[in-house]
Amino acid sequence: MQHFASDNYAGICPEALAALIEANNSGHEPAYGDDSWTQGVCDRIRDLFQTDCEVFFVFNGTAANSLALASLCQSYHSVICHELAHIETDECGGPEFFSGGSKLLTAPGIDGKLTPDAIEAIVTRRADIHYPKPKVVTLTQSTEVGTVYSVEEIRAIAAIAKRRHLKVHMDGARFANAVASLNVHPSEITWRAGVDVLCFGGTKNGLPVGEAVIFFDKALAVDFAYRLKQAGQLASKMRFISAPWLGLLNNDVWLRNARHANAMAQLMAERLEGIDGVKVMFRPQGNAVFAELPPAVAQALRNKGWKFYQFIGSGGCRLMCAWDTLPETVEQFAAEIRALCAA
Ligand SMILES: *Cc1c(COP(=O)(O)O)cnc(C)c1O
Repeated sequence: MQHFASDNYAGICPEALAALIEANNSGHEPAYGDDSWTQGVCDRIRDLFQTDCEVFFVFNGTAANSLALASLCQSYHSVICHELAHIETDECGGPEFFSGGSKLLTAPGIDGKLTPDAIEAIVTRRADIHYPKPKVVTLTQSTEVGTVYSVEEIRAIAAIAKRRHLKVHMDGARFANAVASLNVHPSEITWRAGVDVLCFGGTKNGLPVGEAVIFFDKALAVDFAYRLKQAGQLASKMRFISAPWLGLLNNDVWLRNARHANAMAQLMAERLEGIDGVKVMFRPQGNAVFAELPPAVAQALRNKGWKFYQFIGSGGCRLMCAWDTLPETVEQFAAEIRALCAA
């Protein structure tokens, strides 16, 4: 049975699995990232972004975000993020812990997005020594509510950041879905728009495990390898984290996976919009649909075995589509909601 709880409920996509098996069959290789697979994937990522960047691999997104942010901050600094940001709500204080105390300063914003004004308001609120000095602004692309920052929005935020001497970090756990949605080159919403560091998610796009941390400003990556090692994020058999990326990068499988997941979210939204008693809360641009369902309907769906999260507002259900979500699953889920709402 397929579920809509998270895109990390899905398995490994065939291309990533094939690359993993190929790496396993290739014999002995040096450890700790000195292997040919890891070097090759780093080069592929540099090619993809059309720039000379520093690339690191970690086990998960919490480590990627926490350690990337820690490398941008001193303990007395602060990080500006949206109030729904994963780093604020779902990382158990990881960014604060690994940075040795950097505080997260949250701002509200419609559609899960920070705005230049919200950032400006936080930066100018205080300038005294008693306030943690703002040092980083972080954007989630695509956002926690399934929307996407446009190229112009990112540029505008990066412009404010530059003026206020803030670094720009991007939580790209669903970066692929944003690139697919915007139909732009990945550089256009990262370094060409002013992003300094990207946490490029692989897990939710079809990898078994692993995210890439990409420093477009290479100076910021100094000693990052030590930070990873200390945090327990340096994989000794790193090729098994890096090699599956080849499966995603070859033939743009990462974009195909993301386009498919996005299309399934579109289908879900279309089906739900026609149902009396159901409200789609945000215009889906990535692979998530948020819908308000009557509580009895949500409960009945759970009783039938469907899994999905309900954590935004009252009655807001997050329906997340993955690289392998079948249209039939969406149709069946929507049909069950329709029937329950009519009953
Ligand atoms: C899933 C996710 C992450 C990474 O979470 P892990 O469970 O630590 O891999 C980071 N940011 C966002 C927005 C996510 O959805």
